[in-house]
Amino acid sequence: MIRIDLHVHTFYSGDSKVSPRLLVDILNSHPLVKAVAITDHDTLEGYKTTAKLAKSYEDVLVIPGIEISAFEGHVIVLGVEEKPVYPMNVEEVVDFARERDGVIVVPHPYRVCGLGDLAKGFDVDAVETLNYRCNRRENELAEKLAKEMNLPGVAGSDAHRHDELLRVYTEIEAEHDLSSILKGLRRGLVKVKALKG
Ligand SMILES: [Zn+2]
Ligand SMILES: [Zn+2]
Repeated sequence: MIRIDLHVHTFYSGDSKVSPRLLVDILNSHPLVKAVAITDHDTLEGYKTTAKLAKSYEDVLVIPGIEISAFEGHVIVLGVEEKPVYPMNVEEVVDFARERDGVIVVPHPYRVCGLGDLAKGFDVDAVETLNYRCNRRENELAEKLAKEMNLPGVAGSDAHRHDELLRVYTEIEAEHDLSSILKGLRRGLVKVKALKG
């Protein structure tokens, strides 16, 4: 089993203050959560930098992700180390991810920039049902959407500040490596969790 925060922004996102170096230190000293997906807005630079820094720490895992600003709203693709060609609509994001065996997550569907009910029209793998920066109602609606779409729900902090990191995370029945994590996500072997305190 692995515990992973599936939605983290570094300062490469522009609107985030999270430093890759501090993030890796926080993961290294954290008692429970040792893995993150870097999901910067429309760039993989933060992932590349963080993954390089994480190499010095045996039990810290950083997986590639990108939060794509599609025409209809935000979509996260996990497991792909390539930036798509912009501008994109959601259908094009889905094709891009499928051609590269990525996992597609609908983040914060009922917050600003979320896909909302539109998500129902797309072939995605999971819905983010616990986002630390969403309010309770927004997360409840996301949970309802996941049920209606018969998709697994996942959790991510959507951290843009250090104190938001790892506050919620996803437990996946998977080994400590990328392909096992992607497989676990596709099979829905997941639980959403919030850190206590
Ligand atoms: Zn977003
Ligand atoms: Zn985000």
